[in-house]
Amino acid sequence: MSSSPSPTKDFRVAIVGGGMCGLACAVGLARKGIRADVFEAAPKFDEVGAGVGLGPNALRALKGLGVLDAILARSEDAQQTARQMLYLSGIGAHEEVYDYNNSSVFTAADNGIGIYRPVFLDAVLPLLPDSTATHFNKRCTSISTTASGSQCIRFADGTTHEADLVIGADGIKSTSRNAVVDADKKKLQFTNTVAYRGLVPMDTLRQEGVTTPLNTRLCSFIGIDKHLITFPIKSGKIVNIVAFATDNSVPVGSVEVTGPWVEAVPQQELLDRFDGWGHDVQAMLKHLKSPSKWSIHALTPLDTFVRGKIALVGDAAHAMTPHLGSGVGQGFEDVFLLCELLGHPSTNLSNLEAVLKAYDTIRQPRANMVLERSFRAGAIYESFGKPGYSTGNEMEGHLAGQWEPIWRHDLDGDVVEAVASLKEQGSFPAVTD
Ligand SMILES: Cc1cc2nc3c(=O)[nH]c(=O)nc-3n(C[C@H](O)[C@H](O)[C@H](O)COP(=O)(O)OP(=O)(O)OC[C@H]3O[C@@H](n4cnc5c(N)ncnc54)[C@H](O)[C@@H]3O)c2cc1C
Repeated sequence: MSSSPSPTKDFRVAIVGGGMCGLACAVGLARKGIRADVFEAAPKFDEVGAGVGLGPNALRALKGLGVLDAILARSEDAQQTARQMLYLSGIGAHEEVYDYNNSSVFTAADNGIGIYRPVFLDAVLPLLPDSTATHFNKRCTSISTTASGSQCIRFADGTTHEADLVIGADGIKSTSRNAVVDADKKKLQFTNTVAYRGLVPMDTLRQEGVTTPLNTRLCSFIGIDKHLITFPIKSGKIVNIVAFATDNSVPVGSVEVTGPWVEAVPQQELLDRFDGWGHDVQAMLKHLKSPSKWSIHALTPLDTFVRGKIALVGDAAHAMTPHLGSGVGQGFEDVFLLCELLGHPSTNLSNLEAVLKAYDTIRQPRANMVLERSFRAGAIYESFGKPGYSTGNEMEGHLAGQWEPIWRHDLDGDVVEAVASLKEQGSFPAVTD
């Protein structure tokens, strides 16, 4: 149990969804003296047994939320691994196409880490204080505003809960999004890309004669309509593998996935997809014995993440393709700014709507910028070999500089800017910090 301060604010928050963003938010709010309830649809908090890459911006947000040290303490990746990408040809002898390490502007501060997702839960759950109530098997079905101005959350089991403010952290298939954005203003669509995921021990790959430095580098094997990303977790002992394949014969948005978005598939499907790719790729795929296939969906950018006293964070707000490994990092940036603003001494029940608007003004354009860059990155990776994308020089022209605006963003500057705007418009007194 953590030593968060006793709740001091005059408003109560409900967080819908206890994934990485919802839980980071719960800890961040508790540290600011704000009472919160977390409502999770599943019977327990859970994370898929896969890795997740966290860029330097994500690490700074987690530090600001007070959870980074706990994550690093539980992760064998406390020694930051070099996060910058080495691009290699997927076919032939995997010749180097472009090394982000050699970018003229790259600095050590641009490093990130890869962690095993369940480590996040191990680290964060003990930080939740008694004042944060967690409720399971609570699937939100709708949120409405009562006559008194509070938010009423309805659940699939027929129960309801009232709070002064709701944070929708219920992921890509968010229900809370329905309370914030009208149906004609939001589109969640299949990107025509599927991703096969799995973990393989580095020793196994060495025995297969793999020579690519998968234990120390973030690698992207690129080629036409397909690419495969790897990064080391558990101090390089395990390689996290995500193999992407895209059907570019039809426009994005024209295909609807009617079955499950995540399913176990026979290994042969994966091997067939990457038939003809180079040795190290084949060696990795050979050891993905029971791969899961993810139909990658993404939102078209939302106009807003906020309505009244409901704010969206994480994939609920900006579900994006994973091609820049930045989805949850943007969620952590959302949560960091939101916690800083809600915990500000001048925030109280009377100015919550203005505070959420200030959050939206900063977060909506930035997260949507990352969403659009991620989509573009996937298209570039899967064009290697096409005219204009065939050589290292051509690829460098497309790839260089794609991460710096994401990695180097000034998160504290966001807080300063939001507080200044709240003072300027009279929602915060001009004289306090
Ligand atoms: C293949 C792949 C690789 C990725 N790699 C990376 C990466 O390397 N780096 C990165 O930054 N991002 C990556 N991402 C994206 C990242 O996984 C997501 O951005 C992140 O998980 C979003 O977190 P979240 O908390 O917003 O949502 P989620 O993790 O989806 O959590 C939502 C929670 O809400 C609960 N819930 C859902 N509906 C309801 C409801 N109606 N009521 C109550 N609870 C509900 C769910 O059970 C869940 O616990 C990747 C994604 C994919 C698909």
